[in-house]
This record gives sequence, structure tokens and C-alpha cells, in this order.
Amino acid sequence: MSDQALPAPARPLRLEGALPWVVLAAIGLALPLLDDSYIGVIAQRACIYWVLSAGLNLLVGFAGQLAIGWVPMLTLGAYTTAVLTAGKVMPAWNPYLALLAAGGMGAIFGVIVGLPALRLRTFYFAMTTLGFTTIVTQVALAWTDVTGGGVGTPGPDFPWPFEPGWGFYYFCFLLAALATWITANVAHSRFGRALIAIRDAEVAAEASGIAKPRLLVLVFLLAGALGGVAGGLFASLQSYITPDAFTFEMSVLFFIAILIGGRGSILGPVLGTIILTALPEFAAPLVQWSTFLYAALLLAIVLLIPGGIAELIDFRGRRPLEQHREIAPRPGLLPRVLGAGRTPASMTLHDIRLHFGGVKAIDGVDLDVRGGEVHGLIGPNGSGKTTTLNVISGYYRPTGGEARLNGAPLPFEAPYTRAAHRIARTFQTPRMIGDATVLENVMIGGTIDGQASFAEAMLSLPRSRRDEAALREAALAALAAVGLDGLAEVRADRLQHSELRFMEIARALMLRPAFLLLDEPAAGLSAEEIRRLGALITAISREGVAVLLVEHHADLIFDICDRVTVLNLGKVLAAGTPAEIRAHREVVSAYLGA
Ligand code: ADP
Ligand code: MG
Repeated sequence: MSDQALPAPARPLRLEGALPWVVLAAIGLALPLLDDSYIGVIAQRACIYWVLSAGLNLLVGFAGQLAIGWVPMLTLGAYTTAVLTAGKVMPAWNPYLALLAAGGMGAIFGVIVGLPALRLRTFYFAMTTLGFTTIVTQVALAWTDVTGGGVGTPGPDFPWPFEPGWGFYYFCFLLAALATWITANVAHSRFGRALIAIRDAEVAAEASGIAKPRLLVLVFLLAGALGGVAGGLFASLQSYITPDAFTFEMSVLFFIAILIGGRGSILGPVLGTIILTALPEFAAPLVQWSTFLYAALLLAIVLLIPGGIAELIDFRGRRPLEQHREIAPRPGLLPRVLGAGRTPASMTLHDIRLHFGGVKAIDGVDLDVRGGEVHGLIGPNGSGKTTTLNVISGYYRPTGGEARLNGAPLPFEAPYTRAAHRIARTFQTPRMIGDATVLENVMIGGTIDGQASFAEAMLSLPRSRRDEAALREAALAALAAVGLDGLAEVRADRLQHSELRFMEIARALMLRPAFLLLDEPAAGLSAEEIRRLGALITAISREGVAVLLVEHHADLIFDICDRVTVLNLGKVLAAGTPAEIRAHREVVSAYLGA
């Protein structure tokens, strides 16, 4: 194949994806034909639960936030709708308007409850959501004038065209479908990929310029709003609401439905929600056992199929891969990936120091990296190479010294700000999202180049679709350039170690970097793979990119580097051309060996 030819963008098999949805929609629409009001109530409940779980799924299944107590959004939405339509505190509202207000209420409190997640990790955040659940229930009990306290308050009836009965069912079904569509749109956009990147590879997400706080706030807002709307519907379904209608068990149900559905899936959690809603109903004697049942089901799933229902129905992911695969980079494609008209940039570090307590990880490092050159950074283990990269990419604020980009000071800010300076990097241990495809993993690298807002992505508006097409095309080109295009649609956790290293380079190239920091890219590669890697790195630098290469393979360093800096104990031991370094007595005795 010629170097310029690109494979036709392989679209994921649309039919395979659409079929389950068509079946679900057909069943949902045809359900009233059964004319069984009992089934109708269960179906209403499943739809309502899913409206909440759809948003929660983005939080739990995609972003990996343990929001175990999300029921207060349901409670708030239910009371807001019920109280506003009852007209006890102010003139009665139209129920549909009240439902909108419930969504607004959920959005506000979704963000309030979500704020601790920006600082607290996993279980601590889970505890705050549980705390909030208790607070909301207690307020509902105590604020008798408005909520009716323990006696409760009547739920609203929605007027024409969605009157109680099957009319209301269609309303719930419609909103459930809408919630599915919106969250699927988010999931399939750069925002959805950013969420799973935050979940599985946070440092890689930051290096790609993804600002976690802003994105999470948007998702908490959406998940809260959907929870509030679900609450309004729930109030109508219950016809009378009291604080004890919102049990802890319900919280667990929503959470478990997502887990057994499978992380990072939409269809799986839909099925999980339907199953968990219907199961106790159809096994009437089991109702008292429902908590036990959920727990047993969860255990079974976690132990037997950790990927949940989504993994069970992922037939594509089980197709065998070719055993003897070869990574054949096509550097000729690089101009297409990196774009033309690059003005070579430069980065200077001056007297950078970073001390961890008493440990001087780096202690006065000077470094000068220029566009169009490969700059090697070598030294024994623990000499401060990775730490130097971490300072450049913003993970550590140095104790002293300064960095300049093209002569202007480079402030030491949060890691996600580095992508805007076109500083890209790979990691000593490859960071990937195992259950996303290779293509998706690479597309994450181009997140900051998207134009569409979160709202546009929610509704899949033209700008968002254009973003997706552009990211997809760029990622396919980047994959072809590093020689992995044949694996674009494969789950990343099925790749070999060496393939992951090239995948990380493709992800870094998506930034169209001015600076590329590579942390031991040849570790674990075969001799032939190292040779190809060397040619690829050289070709990247010839496009005007400044490459800073940390490596242990002396051959690779001396073959491809234009200049080399040697670190020892956090200090620069020597700097110069490969020939000078090879002849340097101290370097030879301290590091290269005689
Ligand atoms: P390498 O050159 O092998 O990449 P590193 O930059 O990872 O070396 O580490 C340099 C030194 O700094 C080592 O002594 C290491 O133990 C220390 N170090 C690195 N990161 C930290 C940290 N977060 N806290 C304390 N010490 C650290
Ligand atoms: Mg290291």
C-alpha cells in the first residue's frame, strides 16, 4: 500500500448496534396492546427508573463516580412537582411546568451534591451522597407545612394528552427514550470519551487537556435534572408520596442496575434497570427478598461476568484476533496527521529543582529542546527523568527554577492546561481505557480540538457531528501513521504491550504537538519494533516537532538523537551530541559502563 493511501474509515456495524434498540422500542410501543394494567404499572416504573438511571449511568458507568445515593434527586423532583401542582404554597402550577421545575431543582442539587466529587475520591464521595439522602428525607419529614410530613402529599395527574393509564405510560416511555437518546449522544461524543478517560486513565485525560472539574459539573447537572424529572413522574405514579417511599433500597437498585448492565454502556444498564424493576414483581413471594436478590445478582455478575450484560452481548469483542501481528508505521502519513505550516518551537528549562521532603528528585536541571530535533534524556534509574517530564507536563510544581516556551515564561499550572501549549506525552506505563476501542482511545487525544459545546453534543447537533467525523478521521490517520490502523475497532485491553506503546504515540499525535515527551517508549519492544519506533520518532521530529525522549536503550538514543542530556542523582551530568556523550568519561563510568 502506498504511504499516502488511507483505509476507508471503518464505521462500526450500525445494524448490530441498532437492532436491540428497535426491538426495545417495538416492545415498548406495543405494550398497551396487552391491555394489562398491572404490567402497565411495572412498565411505567421501569421507564421512570430509567430516566433517573440514564443520567446516573453517565456518572457511575462512564465517569466512575460512586454516586450511590442518587435517590434524593427523585425525592426532590417528586415533592417539587407534587407541591407546585397542589397549589398549597402558591397558586397551582400546570403539572407539565411543575415537571420542568423538578428538572431544574434536580439540576441545581445535582451540582451541589456533585461538588465534593471534585475533591473527594471514591468512597468518601459515596458517603457524602448517602449523607445527602438522609438530609433530604429528614427535611421532607420535618417540613410538614409544605410536604405534609409523614402523612404525605398527593401526587399530580398529568392532563391531556397523557392522562393516567396508558397515556401516562406513553409519557414515561417518551421521556425514557429521550433520556436514552440524550445520554447516548453524550456517550458517543468527545465528552463521553473524556468521561471514561477520567475514570480509567485520569493522567492521560489531563495530558490530553481534559478539565475534569468542568466536565463533571456538567454531568452532575444533567444527571440531577434527569433525576428530578424522574421524581415528578414517580410522584404521579405513586398518586400519594410520603418520605418513606424513597428507600435506601431504591438507591441500591439504581446503582446495581448500572453495574450489572456494564460500565460504559447504555444498552446494558437499560436492560439492567428493566430486569431489576420487573424481577421482584413477577416473583411475588420474592418481594420481601428483593434486597437479598439484588445483592446475590450483583455478586454473581461481579464474579462471573465483570463486564456485566454489555460484555455478555458484545459479540464483536470476542472475535479472535490475528496471532502474529506486525506494527508497520507509515511515517509518510505524518504530514497529514500533524498538519502543515509548523513553526519550530523551543522549550528551555533553567535550574529546575523539585524536592520531595528530603529527596532531591531533580536538583538544578537545565534543558533545551528545539523543534525539529530529538533530544535524548538518559540516566540511571531514579535519576529524575520521569520527574522532569512530570514538571514539564504540569504534574509537579517545581520548588525552584523556570521554564520558557519560545522565550515566554511557561507558568506551572494544572496538567490539563498543557495541551493548549501543544505539549503531548506518553507514559512509562501505558495509560489506556481497556473497554474502549483503540480508535476511541486515540480520539481522546484530540478532545480539545472539538468545537461543539456539551449542549450541542447532548442533542447531536451538526457541529457535534462534524467534531466526531473530524476526530475519527484524524485518529484513523494517526493510527495508520503508527501502524495500528488494522486494530482500530479492537478493545484496547486486547492489545499487546508493544502495541499499546504505539497507541499512546498515536494519541499524543492527535494534539498535533509542538512538543512530544516520550517516557521509555521502547521498553518491552522487540529489536525490530525498536528500529521501527526509532524511524517513526525521527520522522515526527522532521515534521518540526520537538521530541524529548527518555530511554534506556542506548543504541536507540545514540542512533536517533540530535542531542543528549545525561542526568544523575537529579543533576545534569553531561549534555552534548551523541558522539560527545559517548566519549564522556564520567558518563561512561557512571551509566554506560565500560
Ligand atoms: P527516573 O529517572 O527513573 O524516571 P524518577 O524521576 O521517577 O526517576 O525519580 C527520581 C527520584 O525522585 C527517585 O529517587 C524517586 O524515588 C523520587 N520521586 C519521584 N517521584 C516522587 C514522589 N512523588 N515522592 C517522593 N519521591 C519521588
Ligand atoms: Mg522513569
